[in-house]
Order: sequence, then C-alpha cells, then structure tokens
Amino acid sequence: MYRSDGVGDGAAQADLSRDELLRYSRHLILPDVALDGQRKLKAARVLLVGAGGLGSPAALYLAAAGVGTLGIVDFDVVDVTNLQRQVLHGTRDIGRSKLASARDRIADLNPNVRVETHETRLTAANALEILDKYDVIVDGTDNFATRYLTNDACVLLGKPNVYGSIFRFEGQASVFATADGPCYRCLFPTPPPPGLVPSCAEGGVLGVLPGLIGTIQATETIKLLLGIGESLAGRLLLVDTMGMRFHTVQVPRDPACPACGTHEITALIDYDEYCGMPGAAEPANADGIAEVTPRELAARIERGDDLSLIDVREPHEWDIAHLSGARLVPLGSLASELASIDGTREIVVYCRSGKRGMDAARQLAAAGFRVSNLAGGILRWSDDVDQSVAKY
Ligand SMILES: [Zn+2]
Repeated sequence: MYRSDGVGDGAAQADLSRDELLRYSRHLILPDVALDGQRKLKAARVLLVGAGGLGSPAALYLAAAGVGTLGIVDFDVVDVTNLQRQVLHGTRDIGRSKLASARDRIADLNPNVRVETHETRLTAANALEILDKYDVIVDGTDNFATRYLTNDACVLLGKPNVYGSIFRFEGQASVFATADGPCYRCLFPTPPPPGLVPSCAEGGVLGVLPGLIGTIQATETIKLLLGIGESLAGRLLLVDTMGMRFHTVQVPRDPACPACGTHEITALIDYDEYCGMPGAAEPANADGIAEVTPRELAARIERGDDLSLIDVREPHEWDIAHLSGARLVPLGSLASELASIDGTREIVVYCRSGKRGMDAARQLAAAGFRVSNLAGGILRWSDDVDQSVAKY
C-alpha cells in the first residue's frame, strides 16, 4: 500500500487567510485533513492533462478543495457537443478556448487557486518540462498516444499519475507511477491496434460517467497530497454504470515493464507512431480507396448519376439523420449483406465522420465492387451541402 506524508513539498506549508479558514471549515474540522492538511493542499501543485470530461470534475473539486496551484494542459475549443459532460464549461463558452473557460470558472469557484495554463498538445518534446513543475499528474486524456506519453513521463520524473478512462457506460481509475506501485504499461504493455478501440466521439459516452471517474481521480489526488487513506496504486477500479457495480482488481508491478521495471525506456518516444496513429499529413485513403467530397457527391446526384448510397452506421444513428435514397447496412453486417448489394452500380458509402465508411469501402473494394467513400461523412455533408441534416 502506498503511503507518505503527502507528495507535495511538506516544508512549503502555506498560511491560510481568515477567509480561507472559513471557506475550508468543513476540512479543518476533519481530523485527517485539519489545518495541517489544508496547508499542504494550498502548497500543492497539480497538473490536469486535458480539460474535458475527466478534467472538468477533477478541476472543479480540486479547486473547491483548495489545491493552491492547478496547471491545465489543453489546446481545444469548447464545442456544443462537449457540454453533455464537460461541466467546467458553459453554453456561453462555446467557441472559446477551454483554458480561458476553465480559468474563469475556477476563479469564480475559488479565487485562492492559481491556474497555470499550458495551451498546447502534450508531446514528447514538451511533456517532461511541463510535468516536472507539478507534484501530481491527473491523466484526463482521451487517446492512447497521450496516455502512454503521460505514463512514461510520470515514470521518468517519479510523479504519481492519477489515471482515469471512460467508454460508453464503463470507466476505470487507478494511480500509477508511485514509488513502488505499477505503471500504466504494467497493466497495458502495448497499445491496442489502431481503430480497434473506438473513441468516445465514435462510440459515445454516458455524460455522467466522466463525472464519476473524474471525481474519483480528484479524490485520489487529494489523498496522495495529504498522505492519507489507501491509494488506488496497485489496484484498478472498474466502474460499470449499467449494473452500478464497482470492483477493484490487483495490478502488480511488472518486473519486465520497460518503463518502471527494467527502465529500458530512458527517454520519451514518438507516441503517435508507437500507437499506430497516422500522421496528420497522411491521407486517410493511403491504400487507394477513392473518396468523394460532399460537394462532388451532391453534384453527381444532381445530374442523375446512377449511384447506390449505402449508410454503414447503426440504426439509432440512421434515425437521427440520413441521406435521402440511402440504404442502411451497418458496418458489422456488411460482410453478410454482400450478396444483396447490386454489383452493377457504383457505390458510395458513408458514415458519421468518414472512418467506418473507409472500412466499409475497403471491404467492398476487396469483394470487387466499384466503391468510394464520402469524405468527412454525414458531418461534412451537413457543413458543406445541407445544414438541415442534423449533426451529432
Ligand atoms: Zn510499469
């Protein structure tokens, strides 16, 4: 079990003003926090990697609890689709940078908190320098590349990594990279093949789920800072909101782990490449699948070209919006539906953003069909051709 006197600099215990004594009175009367603990919180420096679904509740509760300095790394802008779960931001923040929105909200919640903003993507080039300034790192990332990067940087710097991840109705939390606990790589030695695990943007997420997991991350962070309780280091908490079941499994440190075991990893690497993510410059159709832009497709439909439109999304997505004249064949049933598809006509497949469409186009091309994929999917169709088609 991980215990300490708190991971912050115990010597730098900040004094509390009269206003702060009043504000934190419910902490001060808790014997396990008390004045000493509240001073530790005020002296502490916590970095949130991401101000999204997980970072939102974590930032709010850490600020409310009186953590003296909160660093936030993010480079995104508040979008209306964020507001279903990213409670740090409001409707009037749509279009603003998440950091500006976070700074304002935290200043209102607790003006005693110093917010340090890092408006950048966390990369191998900047991670060590940014993370090194903080006592505890809260991983609120939504992709494997940044998760491995955050883990490796935490192991190299010896900083606790308070981990959380969410998908659909299920979440996980743990504490990695403590003095004798495991790291993320001990649990997941290699990233999944690219495309195997859909992102929340592709697979969806219950809005309240990051609220649960991010709040657990804030709780673990405060326990680490105070040196109280039993940390999640060495355990993985699994949360299933459908069955409303919480359970923990033991996660031992792996002596063969290249990060925290053998220490083979002595420097940060290219995590996009490591996780098999295509570089931004690489075209999505590197394997020769034809793509048609929404404007080109609209022009071809307009002039009466003989096209067979196939929508490869799920039925509940079809119900939100679809293109007129299209046929619904969800990607998962495409292989069994090949015989019912007319091979004499040219096919255009589409999905929400273009990714599943590309998978479908590959399958169809391999089966000998003439096929192209609608670039950017129904989202770009809505932007470029017909705004009455709902985006989601
Ligand atoms: Zn490890």
